Amino acid sequence: MTAEPEGFRELSGRELAKEVRAAVAARAAELTKNGRQPRLAVVTANDDGGSAAYIRSISAAAAREGIACDVARTTTATGITATLTSLADDPEVHGIILQTPLPEGASLAALATLIPVQKDVDGASPESIGRLVAGLPAFAPATAEAVLALLDHYGVELRGRHAVVVGRSVVVGKPAAHLLLDRHATVTICHSRTPDLAAITRQADILVAAAGRAGLIGPWHVSPGTTVIDVGTNATPEGGLAGDVDPAVTGVAAALTPVPGGVGPVTTALLLRHVVEAAAIAG
Ligand code: NAP
Repeated sequence: MTAEPEGFRELSGRELAKEVRAAVAARAAELTKNGRQPRLAVVTANDDGGSAAYIRSISAAAAREGIACDVARTTTATGITATLTSLADDPEVHGIILQTPLPEGASLAALATLIPVQKDVDGASPESIGRLVAGLPAFAPATAEAVLALLDHYGVELRGRHAVVVGRSVVVGKPAAHLLLDRHATVTICHSRTPDLAAITRQADILVAAAGRAGLIGPWHVSPGTTVIDVGTNATPEGGLAGDVDPAVTGVAAALTPVPGGVGPVTTALLLRHVVEAAAIAG
């Protein structure tokens, strides 16, 4: 067992997720009473274990908070195009998410352009991403927003601090880096071609690990005082879930989010919050 230094904090996401979901449930009930039950549509081309489990968990979470959730399954890019086009025009549908992986040869960026920005509750379309960067209203990708929500919940100062993000995907790394920048952190983004990752991550006040590599971040990647947000969710051979951060990091760092129970539940709660917000602004 790793010795945790005095003052080490585990940054659980469960309490924050519960708070967000209570507010979501109240808002969903109000909207439903006024004849507009918030409705989420999940479009998926893949029924593999991980994707199916994620969809089941989103559907169950939506149902608990009084949000309707429909799952549309289609196996081709043409089918996805037709489904997204019809959902875009459906006034009863307030939020749309397009689940990955997509069929061979299909482009997420191209398909996501079919999701109207006001229904793009997971900030997946190029327009939403562009608006986010331009400072215009749009839903941020829920995972990236969850990183910031956790830091705020635990009162971690961002202004003027050095935030290092490991991972540069359009869904997590880049938007998380952008949101941190917006909050006046000085941001460094690392990726698979970054030489000597540890030399950079050791300089971080805030370290966001979003690489999808179990145990990539070890104790030698952090310094005393670093707050570590572990976005990684990697399937273990035993059927469990491991983060990108080796738990031994708790022997050095000031704080770490657990996996599971850190970023994940907050992401789901924020995604549902986006659906009620989308329903509230729908004409
Ligand atoms: P992704 O598209 O595969 O991107 C991974 C990023 O990490 C890439 O930019 C890649 O660099 C970088 N990377 C990979 N290996 C690296 C290494 N050894 N050193 C430094 N950088 C490395 O993954 P993603 O969709 O962003 O997801 C990242 C993780 O977050 C996954 O574990 C995913 O399951 C998890 N996730 C969690 C939630 C949640 O709610 N908790 C939601 C979404 C995703 P290159 O660009 O150079 O290839």
